[in-house]
Amino acid sequence: RGRTFAMIKPDAYNHIGKIVDRILEAGFRISNIRMVRFSTENARQFYAEHAGKPFYDGLVGFMSSDVVVGMELVAVDAVPKWRSLMGPTNSNTARNDAPTSIRATFGTDGQRNATHGSDSPASANREINFFFSIPSNT
Ligand code: ATP
Ligand code: MG
Repeated sequence: RGRTFAMIKPDAYNHIGKIVDRILEAGFRISNIRMVRFSTENARQFYAEHAGKPFYDGLVGFMSSDVVVGMELVAVDAVPKWRSLMGPTNSNTARNDAPTSIRATFGTDGQRNATHGSDSPASANREINFFFSIPSNT
């Protein structure tokens, strides 16, 4: 068994319950969960690998626009299993190529795509450590 980091993005706030249901129905165990609102700096750090790309500033603004729900998911081959359940990055592509996927069902376009998933076990470790260490605002 391995773990990955999943996140429900601000555009999918109204679908949090349905997305959590999909995750559990797929056989993942949710070993940690937290809701937080990213600061601009949190979003910049979380997506640091994309710094300098044309979509980076828009992505940072989007990810800090409202709360997100982050989860540590455990399953056999958790990283590819969760990415497969999400579907392709762009929700319009997902509706063509993986019509029952989470991004096809709950996302909008290439930026507002409902969920995030780690791209490797090393990224999962980094993202889980980062996310669950963000200081709370209260
Ligand atoms: P994520 O890392 O969020 O799970 P991903 O690994 O499928 O998504 P990345 O290439 O890492 O895709 O892109 C990170 C996020 O940046 C995407 O999920 C999307 O929100 C946004 N993004 C990626 N490419 C574009 C683009 N061409 N235009 C606008 N936004 C984009
Ligand atoms: Mg990625």
